[in-house]
Amino acid sequence: MLFGPVWSRRFGWSLGVNQFPEKLCTYACPYCQLGPGKVTVERVKLCDPQKLVKELKGVKGHYDVITFVPEGEPLLDLRLGECSKAAKEFSGKKTVLLTNASLLYDPEVAKNAYPFDVVSIKVDAGNERTWRRVNAPHEALKFDEVVSGILKFSRTFGGELVTETMVVKGYNDSKDELKEIAEIINEINPKVAFIMVPTRPPTIPVEPGDVELALRVFKEVIGDNVVPITQRSFASYPKDEKDLATIAKVHPVPKKLFSEVPEGCSVVTYMGEEFVRC
Ligand code: SF4
Repeated sequence: MLFGPVWSRRFGWSLGVNQFPEKLCTYACPYCQLGPGKVTVERVKLCDPQKLVKELKGVKGHYDVITFVPEGEPLLDLRLGECSKAAKEFSGKKTVLLTNASLLYDPEVAKNAYPFDVVSIKVDAGNERTWRRVNAPHEALKFDEVVSGILKFSRTFGGELVTETMVVKGYNDSKDELKEIAEIINEINPKVAFIMVPTRPPTIPVEPGDVELALRVFKEVIGDNVVPITQRSFASYPKDEKDLATIAKVHPVPKKLFSEVPEGCSVVTYMGEEFVRC
């Protein structure tokens, strides 16, 4: 269930939790580094708090935060809130949630996000048409409902809120679209608005969008708390190939870090580099 710790420019040394046995998400973003998977809004019990604490007891290396970053949308897990509380109680570390925020409109789901210290919300689109292309949501979801759920959460959450926007060429990187996204982020009022581009193999071929333009437009609307992250660092990755394979379940890892491709994993190429996805 645990992987890492790996270095994160946003959060420091991050111990990852992946409680999902396979990819489950409310979205099917074309840029998703996990590849295709089940698109659903049905929530299931996945994380076992006792098992998580048992695993945490065995962690030797230093870590600053515990990040829930499973194969898919973490709020699909009915036990996410329980697990984050258990992880925090045991370790005393900050807990971080990376969510696409599509289910936050439901108060029962949002209850699972409030116990976190840091919540990072995905905002890739400022209108329904772009949202359907860049996030390919489950048919039961409605853009206006998702946005109002995010805004309600942002006004009531007491921890640190950040946003992340994946800028994808031809999907959401026109000036008008970036402005619409920035206006929603401005209402959310996050501590930092991160701008990202695809740097690992996507599900279908996509290219990085115009980061310079995104940065300019975001700064005009939001102000200076906008940070672009356009490169991944793999320097902190463990040497042990079993540990590397657990990371490759959620983040494709450069093939050059493996002596051989682990069983059950595949090789995918993106922007001239080979990656292992497990
Ligand atoms: S990028 Fe995130 S939100 Fe999009 S399909 Fe992948 S896991 Fe789901």
